[in-house]
Parts: sequence; structure tokens; C-alpha cells
Amino acid sequence: MKIKLFILSVFICAFGFSQDVYTKTLKLMGSRFEISVVANDSVEGQKYIVSAIGEIKRIENLISSWDSNSQTSEINRSAGVSAVKVDLELFQLIERALKISKLTDGAFDISYASMDKIWKFDGSMTTMPSKEAIKKSVEKVGYENIILDATNQTVFLKLKGMKIGFGAIGKGYAADKAKALLINNGVSAGIINASGDLNTWGTQPNGKDWMVAIVNPLNKEKVFSWMPVKNSAVVTSGNYEKYIRFNDVLYTHIIDPRTGYPATGILSVTIFTQNAELADALATSVFVMGEEAGLNFINQLKGVECIIVNKDNKIVSSSQIELQN
Ligand code: ADP
Ligand code: MG
Repeated sequence: MKIKLFILSVFICAFGFSQDVYTKTLKLMGSRFEISVVANDSVEGQKYIVSAIGEIKRIENLISSWDSNSQTSEINRSAGVSAVKVDLELFQLIERALKISKLTDGAFDISYASMDKIWKFDGSMTTMPSKEAIKKSVEKVGYENIILDATNQTVFLKLKGMKIGFGAIGKGYAADKAKALLINNGVSAGIINASGDLNTWGTQPNGKDWMVAIVNPLNKEKVFSWMPVKNSAVVTSGNYEKYIRFNDVLYTHIIDPRTGYPATGILSVTIFTQNAELADALATSVFVMGEEAGLNFINQLKGVECIIVNKDNKIVSSSQIELQN
């Protein structure tokens, strides 16, 4: 009898814990999100996915500069006029963005956004913008003119025509928040992948690490290398994402805030670190800094690694990375 009971309970355990990966792909924040969770069955998996989607939509409503009802749009509308009181969450996101601007000496700058009147990557641009137009617009870029007041929890853009945008940090932030929410809900493992900006936790149901592919920027179907990821973020900024071409020169959507021109010289940057928000911002920063300055910078940061595909399509990486082929 004792033996029988024992066998029965082992059976129930094995059955009860047979987990699978459930995935949903959908458009959120204007990008392709792929949400994967490890769950006991599809009903549980879908429930988790729905809660992650809710969290990402909530963040989008707060930070989108396309949505005229967002607090971010209100900040932009009030540029040069008045300070705007915002939610603590948005205030702190801007605070962290400014810290990254200081750390990167202005390579990362959420006030790059006034340049989006000049550089459009949606196909609507037919001629190269004039030097004068770029010069005039870049005068409105500068994180020093984003004024935070912690006591009143307000944000003020000093100059009329200034604008902020979270294109280089928002998806990473959303991935972190969705991950945190799911962990809180008891989800043991998963991946939040926001168009190549991803954060993982736990392992695959077979106990193996999640694996992430580094693709060849010149041929997205070709994988350069696979890397295991343990409870951390992997974020790639690539100039194959959004770009335009004039006279055979490729202009990417990452802007050097100091010149107002698109950054050149790198095909893609992949950053590995604990949180996707930081990884997202640093990927954009290294893109602006260029190969040498970018690698030097990353090598000075603890717990952050990077892989750069340079313009000769060669891989270079920070000091602690070992590539598996
Ligand atoms: P992706 O959106 O492909 O993941 P990034 O994370 O590098 O790529 O973000 C690029 C986006 O960030 C641009 O489309 C633009 O919205 C914004 N951006 C461009 N240049 C900068 C910059 N220097 N600092 C901050 N944000 C930027
Ligand atoms: Mg980024």
C-alpha cells in the first residue's frame, strides 16, 4: 500500500509539472513584441500573456509621443511655456534617462526627438534635409535643457520647439516591467522580446538556458552566433531596423545629438546586462559613440558587455565576451 501511494504521488508530480513554452506575437508600441512564458497549460500561459500585454499597453499610454493624450505629449506641447506635473513613474524614467545622458556625454539624449521633424524614417522623406534645417533643429536638442523638479514632480523643456521621445529606451523599459510583473505573478520563466530588445528569466522547461541569436546585420536570416542568457537582457540596435538612402549613403534612425546627423560607422550593437532599459539606452549610445570609443566605454562598466558588428561586417566584442560558434 505504501509503495502504491508513493508511485501515485510521483506520477502526479511528473504530470503536474510538465511545462511548456507559450508564445504570442503582436504589435505593441509600434513594434513587434513576442511574449513567451513557461506555464503548465495553455489557459495558464494565455492568462500570463494577457497580463504582460496589459502592462506594456499601460506603459505605452504613459510614454508614447505619438499619442496626444500621453503625459509625454503634454510635456512636449508645453515646451518653452510651462512645467508639467507627471506620474512618479515617468518622472523617474526621465531622471534615469538624464543619468545615461551624463554617463555617455550626451550620446544618448531623449531630446534628440526634435530631429524627427527633419529625419523621417517612414518613407515620407524624398530629399536630403538641408544643412540649415538640420542646424536649426539640433539647437533644440540638449538634455541640459530638460528641467526636473523633484519636489513638484514636474518636467520642463526649456526651449520652445524642444521635444522628448523614448524610442531608444521605452521598449527596454517595457520588457523589464512586463518581466517583473510576470515574476510577481509566479511565472517561473519567460522571454519578453520587443523587436530584438529582450529580457529573460528562468530556463527553458528542459532546464537549459534560453539561447539568443546574434544575426548578421547585412543578412538577417544569417546567424553569427548563439549565446546563452541567464536572467538578463540582450538588446540590439541595428541600422537595418530603420533607415533611408540618399545617393547610395545609408542614413540610420539613430541620431548623433551633437550634430543632428545620423550616426555612421557601425552596423549593429548588442548589449548584454541585467536590465533591458539600460541595455536599450547603451546600445543606442554605443552606436553614436562609434566602435572604439563605444568599446572603451563598455569595458569600463561593470556587468555590461557588448558585441559590435562594424562597418566591415566584422564582429568585435567587449573584454569578457566569449563567442560560441
Ligand atoms: P530600436 O528602436 O531599433 O531598438 P534603438 O533602441 O537604438 O533602436 O532606438 C532608436 C530610436 O531611438 C530612434 O528610432 C529614435 O526614436 C531614438 N533615438 C535616435 N537617436 C537617439 C539618441 N541619440 N538618443 C536617444 N534616442 C535616440
Ligand atoms: Mg536603444
